[in-house]
Amino acid sequence: QTEGERAALPQPERVTEVRYTKIFINNEWYNSVSGKRFATYNPATGVKICDVEEADRLDVDKAVEAAKAAGKRGSPWRKMDVSSRGRLLNKLADLMERDRTLLAVSSSISPYTASLSSELATKHCIAVSLEYFIFAVKPIGVCGAIIPWNFPLLMFVWKIAPALCCGNTVIVKPAEQTPLTALHMGSLIKECGFPPGVVNILPGFGPTAGAAISSHMDIDKVAFTGSTEVGKLIKEAAARSNLKRVTLELGGKNPCIVLADADLQLAVEEVQRGAFFNQGQCCTAAARVFVEEPVYEEFVRRSVESAKKVAVGDPMDPRMSHGPQIDQRQVDKILDLIEAGKREGAKLECGGCAVEDRGLFVQPTVFSGVRDHMRIATEEIFGPVQCIFSFKSQEEAIDRANRTQYGLAAAVFTRDMDRALSISSALQAGTVWVNCYNALHVQAPFGGYKMSGNGRELGEYALAEYSEVKAVTIRLTEKP
Ligand code: NAD
Repeated sequence: QTEGERAALPQPERVTEVRYTKIFINNEWYNSVSGKRFATYNPATGVKICDVEEADRLDVDKAVEAAKAAGKRGSPWRKMDVSSRGRLLNKLADLMERDRTLLAVSSSISPYTASLSSELATKHCIAVSLEYFIFAVKPIGVCGAIIPWNFPLLMFVWKIAPALCCGNTVIVKPAEQTPLTALHMGSLIKECGFPPGVVNILPGFGPTAGAAISSHMDIDKVAFTGSTEVGKLIKEAAARSNLKRVTLELGGKNPCIVLADADLQLAVEEVQRGAFFNQGQCCTAAARVFVEEPVYEEFVRRSVESAKKVAVGDPMDPRMSHGPQIDQRQVDKILDLIEAGKREGAKLECGGCAVEDRGLFVQPTVFSGVRDHMRIATEEIFGPVQCIFSFKSQEEAIDRANRTQYGLAAAVFTRDMDRALSISSALQAGTVWVNCYNALHVQAPFGGYKMSGNGRELGEYALAEYSEVKAVTIRLTEKP
């Protein structure tokens, strides 16, 4: 961003009072059944913000009753036509816009996600037959959403927007590290007039509230974003309970292939933004950068030069582009992997430590000479660590890029569109970016191959994940 662009941004709001800290069910605010609460902290300062009510199994039961009642036959939500649901979603998007400086933990694309999905729903649900048979798309029912802490607002919207425009009711469990954004969304949902019980929000922990959702007999679908490890638990719980539908958006170890003919400066900038965006706490992080030998040294040199210039500091200060990691557990995991990288023989070019005197900040870090077997080359780091590899031939790069259990995203940098297309088709990834990175659009399906998940979010594909398809076949006596 330039100085001018920064000056044009609305100033972030310093929140002095947190208004929403309770469980949101039926458009009302409740204490937890157990009476338990948990603390939430500001990762930039380590200071406690407030206590939040802690939902568990009994609160999940309460929310399921509310969501079932809200979606039952004859209820206001079931009787509401798709255009009216679309209007409500658009109104929610307007309220998010109004409160954007408060909600500004995430980028401004979120409101557009909500409004755009509602337009798609209008088209999708009007599917009428010709002469014999009517094709009807129905909501699934009660949908659970278990979301992570790295994009608290975006993940909330990616889950509720398609669920609601298809007519489902929803129970959201935000990550225990980041409950407040979701609870503020609860207040907006109430304000814009969704019927009670359509959206319920339960702050709480994974093994308790999260597990109660994934194993609940009356929840019909669960959508999850987070670690592959927990994704497996969710699918297992779904299978052991009622075979609820499951969509998973899990980890990645995303490869970027930089060919010698690429616009090198563009590749350096895009790839590094991809590696360091949100301090690397991003499932699409540009984790493995394969650079063709003739440009490898220069690519490393420019990447190191650029990493050293990253402005690290208070995330509320618009001049800073690099804030804290979410918590001490993540910082420890990142530093442990950096140590492993050094031990296993990768070359630490810059960074590599926590920022002094600031607990949760990790320096932007670049490793060169990384080999495929190293831990930094195989494990999801979820921190600001860029790993650069060199390669000799295109086939070798494709093979090595695909040699991972993950398959979320990938990127190719070249001026030769033939090569870009043939590499894109060979890469096992749900998203391939050509000469760009993290270019997400609400119309484009997003999700993973292999152990990066099941199903797709965004665009029309997301609507299919929130619909039951019923074929009602009618025999006509009169032919047209
Ligand atoms: P996580 O998978 O443990 O947490 C994500 C969500 O799942 C949270 O809401 C959590 O409460 C819930 N959860 C945890 N255990 C559960 C269970 N047994 N049943 C149901 N829900 C459960 O992620 P994390 O511990 O916060 O982070 C660990 C690692 O996961 C990170 O280092 C990173 O590699 C990865 N991660 C990936 C993403 C992503 O977007 N793909 C997001 C966050 C974390």
